[in-house]
Amino acid sequence: MDMLKQRILQEGIVLSNEVLKLDAILNHQVDPELIMEMGKEFAKRFENEGITKVVTIESSGISVAFATAYVLKVPLVFARRKKTLTTDNDSYCERVPSFTKGIVTDIMVSKQFLTPQDRVLIIDDIIANGDAARGIIRIIERSGAELAGFGIAVEKSFQQGAQTIRDLGIRVDSLVRIGRLQPGRIELEE
Ligand code: 5GP
Repeated sequence: MDMLKQRILQEGIVLSNEVLKLDAILNHQVDPELIMEMGKEFAKRFENEGITKVVTIESSGISVAFATAYVLKVPLVFARRKKTLTTDNDSYCERVPSFTKGIVTDIMVSKQFLTPQDRVLIIDDIIANGDAARGIIRIIERSGAELAGFGIAVEKSFQQGAQTIRDLGIRVDSLVRIGRLQPGRIELEE
């Protein structure tokens, strides 16, 4: 997606060989026009998949997931992060290591918002090692809902996350793939 590629090249800041700061467009400030275009693109790619719900994880996935859900005319459910994993019969909880914070957080979705009748599209901002993705996939599996696929705004393809999800036989579509990060240099893949 050219518009997103340009913005990443202009406004992304390489923090290390592994971490790209995208605060100006995704993780702190968001540009609604750009986000809506991303939502339209995901909606177009998954329009024939019979999606009944878009699911993401708070907080950075919410804007793109909202835009996608708006275009597909379905509800958006965002997994909430919790400080403690308390046993709760009314929700699905999973423990997920956080790539950027270096800690473990627990994510949860209330059982009332995911049912075996749902066909789910997961949307997230960035994929690195795929821990967040695997956590939300486990929640969807436990709910009995069907997973149609995964839409990722930015895939860092030099890390293994997206590939490990594809290896499970799950469709993963990314809008931009980053092949390498070097000091002051972001290498995108075609
Ligand atoms: P994963 O679970 O795939 O290792 O990491 C995914 C989550 O960590 C994403 O939701 C994203 O918010 C955050 N993340 C991973 N890599 C980066 C990065 O390079 N930059 C930023 N800003 N966030 C990242």
